[in-house]
Amino acid sequence: MKVNTMTGSMRDEVKGVEPTPAVWKARGYCLKCGLCCRDTEMVLTPSDLRRIEALGYVKREFTVFRRGFYRLRNVDGKCFFYRDGKCIIYEYRPLGCSMYPIVIEVENCEVTVDELCPLARETKREELAKAREFIKRVLEELRLTY
Ligand code: SF4
Repeated sequence: MKVNTMTGSMRDEVKGVEPTPAVWKARGYCLKCGLCCRDTEMVLTPSDLRRIEALGYVKREFTVFRRGFYRLRNVDGKCFFYRDGKCIIYEYRPLGCSMYPIVIEVENCEVTVDELCPLARETKREELAKAREFIKRVLEELRLTY
């Protein structure tokens, strides 16, 4: 079954699929503007692929393989999973999405804060430090070193 939204009852149906680890547990100030879901080049780790496939999605439909990595596919300029102004797999989204506005430029293993996000400048030093464990995990999964 393909899960299109994550309402309470559907969450029961995907029991056994671990949600994406929460990077920003205390962060309640996302504007939900969707800017980060446009023209995405988000790289997917092997565990992202497994988690999203476990929801019933087919890899070749939601990914493109570009510059050495599986990445989220865009449809009409927006992420495959961005519909009606929201992420339809939010609780199961790629780890990279959950770290935003911190982004890993996998080509050169640089970690930056994406200025596209209206709240990028509010990213605190402690948040960057907290994100480090997740950055490490993403890079390990991609077999890259930082
Ligand atoms: S998976 Fe969700 S959060 Fe990530 S880019 Fe797509 S719509 Fe946005």
